[in-house]
Amino acid sequence: MGRFDGRVAVITGAARGIGFGTAKRFAEEGASVAIIDLDEDAAASAAADLPGSAVGIGCDVSDAASVDAAIARVVESLGGIHILVNNAGITRDNLLFKMTEQDWDLVMGVHLKGAFLMTKAAQVHFSAQKYGKVVNISSTSALGNRGQANYSAAKMGIQGFTRTLGIELGPFGINVNAVAPGFIATEMTDATAARLKMDVEEFRRLSAEANPVKRVGLPDDIAAAVTFLASDEASYITGQTLYVDGGATLG
Ligand code: NAP
Repeated sequence: MGRFDGRVAVITGAARGIGFGTAKRFAEEGASVAIIDLDEDAAASAAADLPGSAVGIGCDVSDAASVDAAIARVVESLGGIHILVNNAGITRDNLLFKMTEQDWDLVMGVHLKGAFLMTKAAQVHFSAQKYGKVVNISSTSALGNRGQANYSAAKMGIQGFTRTLGIELGPFGINVNAVAPGFIATEMTDATAARLKMDVEEFRRLSAEANPVKRVGLPDDIAAAVTFLASDEASYITGQTLYVDGGATLG
């Protein structure tokens, strides 16, 4: 018997990286899973790698019509929705004086507007059934990171969004929490290494040195925290942000 038997979990940006690791964990623990990603083929192929019933759905989380259509497809194909993980993300890093308006808008659109649109569409179902779990993915960059004014603002915005929805949705049986990862080895951090003209292994080694547990994080580390917060064991926890960063933000 799995923790998520009979539940439907929707994870955005889950064709790869942290999202895929999290989708896999939900599927292994009994959930039916919807993998949402920009590219429908990539989403479908990731879904085909999961045990149990899973669908891949192409959707741009920053577009309201695309989000509403995706949530309707989830309900139609998997019979409902109980858990939403707002994980889709992009970076457009630059120092402020070089950051463009487009860099700002794109990052806000995916992280903040995306989480808003997905949660608004899902909560219609959550409120009606008096049950729902939302886990938003923030970042240690919320606390400030050179070259990431847009991303940092969006990730701290996610924490305010999480606290506010904790207050608003708690009375309807809906828990809303966030996980703030530190350095996790994925294509996103590999792309950062490339932008800094650093070797990926060297970048990971230096990132591991920078935290007390002396290793980089893996998608499984985030999947473990997300699934706990989405489980019924965590039903008295809401509005919180859990830092999963090997202690990197302890000072
Ligand atoms: P990743 O490997 O780059 O995966 C992100 C996924 O999101 C990609 O499949 C991407 O699709 C998808 N995506 C982008 N824009 C989208 C949109 N508008 N609609 C739907 N899907 C979209 O990133 P990751 O490292 O796994 O990161 C996952 C989350 O964790 C992000 O929110 C990120 O900010 C956060 N995070 C990551 C780290 C880290 O160290 N890796 C640390 C802290 C927080 P395409 O490939 O088609 O663009």
